[in-house]
Amino acid sequence: MRHRPTTGHLWSAARIHQPAAGSVAWRGRLLMLVAAGVLWPPATAGLRAQTPAPPNLIVIYADDLGYGDLGCFGHPTLATPQLDRMAAEGLKLTQFYSAAPVCTPSRAALLTGRLPLRSGMCSNTRRVLFPDSKGGLPDSEITLAEVLKEHGYATACIGKWHLGHLPQFLPTRHGFDSYFGVPYSNDMDRVADAPKGRAAFQEPRSEYWNVPLMRNEQIIERPADQTTLTRRYTDEALRFIREHRDRRFFLYLAHSMPHVPLFRSPPFADRSVRGLYGDVVEEVDASTGQVLELLRQLQLDRQTLVVFCSDNGPWLIFNEQGGSAGLLRDGKGSTWEGGVREPTIFWWPGQIEPGRTSAELGSTMDLFATMHKLCGAELPADRVLDSYDLTPVLLGQGASHRKTVFYYRGYQLMAVRHGPWKAHFQTQASYGQPAPMRHDPPILYHLERDPGEQWDVAAQQPDVLATIRQLVAEHQARLQPAESQLEK
Ligand code: MG
Repeated sequence: MRHRPTTGHLWSAARIHQPAAGSVAWRGRLLMLVAAGVLWPPATAGLRAQTPAPPNLIVIYADDLGYGDLGCFGHPTLATPQLDRMAAEGLKLTQFYSAAPVCTPSRAALLTGRLPLRSGMCSNTRRVLFPDSKGGLPDSEITLAEVLKEHGYATACIGKWHLGHLPQFLPTRHGFDSYFGVPYSNDMDRVADAPKGRAAFQEPRSEYWNVPLMRNEQIIERPADQTTLTRRYTDEALRFIREHRDRRFFLYLAHSMPHVPLFRSPPFADRSVRGLYGDVVEEVDASTGQVLELLRQLQLDRQTLVVFCSDNGPWLIFNEQGGSAGLLRDGKGSTWEGGVREPTIFWWPGQIEPGRTSAELGSTMDLFATMHKLCGAELPADRVLDSYDLTPVLLGQGASHRKTVFYYRGYQLMAVRHGPWKAHFQTQASYGQPAPMRHDPPILYHLERDPGEQWDVAAQQPDVLATIRQLVAEHQARLQPAESQLEK
């Protein structure tokens, strides 16, 4: 059976409506209501929306794409017609966060539903894993892929992993049936005779970075031909979907782009008025369109939830080759909004009402609880999770359960958002500021009135600060940071 039928839920719900004693008069009234279409059809429709059959799940994760880089998030010249259509057919979330402003911790949090310091997948000194790192995502962590696999899903990881490249840390050891991609960032393993500094990125060539391309646990190409990465990731994704059309699947498609060095395949060269960065994002956009179109062709679109997001904000020091956070402040590496708020779209025809925009709070960590809910899995009870079920938001049934966001840079708590208020206890710009600046009292912004974090209103809001300080105390009381895997 491909999808579990919902009749069990309908039956148990119908039983609730039955009278305590089988009175004839009551039955007659019930039958009349059913015949008149008053009771049964709305109840059925409502229950279907509340408990849809477990869908296929696809997460498309861009690398270093900024909040302002999509047409549907306001970019004036970058053309993203496929993502714009995805948003028009789905739900756009304007206050959705990654758990960290850099790659490795962001990805660990996405797959585990936990702040990176709980798994040790962060560091104050080495921000991400490097090719000489000995650590990776610990076996003791429960990944989304492991849970979905246990619940009958075929699972594939395609693209950038960055949670440990040694065999014991690879996707195939963390719940994915298969892996195809570059196990860390595409700017690592720079060769000795490549141009120094930024020069290598101006006219990048694949041979400047000796990064491996892997299939499962084998290196199949080195250096990876980076001009073909987005195209080959897409081809692999389409093949996986076709091959698993008759069973439930989970696809984690984590693009290496638009992280520098920027590469695109020949059909996308010199196409975008936004320049090389635009070409690269436009190829990611086209790739997303191909995935959605295949789902439509295979008539899987109404049985598949697709999430599009980015791992962290734009890498601003790369100037034109970095993206844009739009009106948000700063970018990758910082806990100002531009570092962690992501352009996010959820798409599920027939379940998600098309064309909605929501300012409800959400986090990539929430995919963990949301996908548990959708596949009928129990959340693990033996660990602290930082994950909230977002199905009420997706299905238009209510507000987000998430009210608070904790912003970490490595192991340091930098800021806390509660409702529309964000208190910064420390701030540090992405680059060029050697140490964090401490703020006592914290600086406070109302992010819905002041999304660019310009006007400190702490002096006028002592009660808000008191509430946030209390939240911090409760949060820290049950915090048990794990040893850093990134410093091994
Ligand atoms: Mg990144």
